[in-house]
Amino acid sequence: MRSFGTTRSGHEAFLYTLKNANGMQVDITNYGGTITRLLALDRNGHRADVVLGFNSVAEYEAGSPYFGCIIGRVGNRIAHGRFMLEGRRYAVATNNNPGGIPCHLHGGAQGFDKVIWKAGDATIDGEHAITFTRLSPDGEEGYPGNLLATVAYSLSSDNSLRIDYSATTDRPTPVNLTNHSYFNLKGEGASDILDHVLTINATRITPVNAGLIPTGEIIPVRETPFDFTSPHAIGARIGADDEQLRFAGGYDHNWVLDHADGELALAAEVHEPASGRVMEVWTTEPGIQFYSGNFLDGSLTGKFGGRYVHRGGLCLETQHHPDSPNQPAFPSVILRPGETYRSSTIYRFRAR
Ligand code: BGC
Repeated sequence: MRSFGTTRSGHEAFLYTLKNANGMQVDITNYGGTITRLLALDRNGHRADVVLGFNSVAEYEAGSPYFGCIIGRVGNRIAHGRFMLEGRRYAVATNNNPGGIPCHLHGGAQGFDKVIWKAGDATIDGEHAITFTRLSPDGEEGYPGNLLATVAYSLSSDNSLRIDYSATTDRPTPVNLTNHSYFNLKGEGASDILDHVLTINATRITPVNAGLIPTGEIIPVRETPFDFTSPHAIGARIGADDEQLRFAGGYDHNWVLDHADGELALAAEVHEPASGRVMEVWTTEPGIQFYSGNFLDGSLTGKFGGRYVHRGGLCLETQHHPDSPNQPAFPSVILRPGETYRSSTIYRFRAR
């Protein structure tokens, strides 16, 4: 454990490191439970840092587009920052307005990404895990109930970075936690990700309106630029004349995964041909947000001085479908007293 600097409110942030015998390394800070560094090997055994991020907590606080952090209480968007629960209307912050239409994004003005978590240790499947815990108080960001959340990171000998989320509440509340790492398998700051080849094990997406809010429909991807059921370079169809791509300025959509609910299954695979690095994404979640880094614009500088260009990183955020609190047909995100929220995601690395 080492210092990662001091937050504006005067709290010291720390960095925690996971390593395995193959040379993989993951650094995580208790500020936002944020993955700040992930060293993965290419086909020649060379390591590169494959996640976007910064070198100090001050830089994250100064303005991070959710690099590497835990997202909560509810990931992605809630239309107009409003939802009904048990006959009561709740209002949460409207901190985002794509297409000029205000909505709630990634837990609000001060989501789980912008707070210090309590760090600890645990053992998961025989592996050492670093845990981050916090109590999100009743009313935080407008959400009901005291929510006690724990996120455990572990790294196995088969190069799996595993993230296990759990939470309990004392009042019914929506919960949809994820991690918002931006990956570039060439190495952060190197270039864009348009040549990365992506496969997603999903035959359907939840299309969005101009405000990037799901319309409520679930539509097939067949014969559209959203069909990644077989491998495609991300850049191959991103410029296609397609309303969904236009709304989001590229890919920024939720794929409805084909696996059974709650089963830990392979959701997506990314291959970067030059380095040979491969990242598999496994999850128990019903959905995955593939975001092609469309809002990166070259204004942020990375850990080794490289600029984070337009589409310089990609996110594969495992989740329940966006705007679920307002979408009765989507799997529920409501956690009730007495229940335990559980979600697991694995990012597994290899090279070929
Ligand atoms: C969302 C994007 C958003 C980004 C913030 C992604 O999860 O889908 O629309 O701009 O997070 O960096």
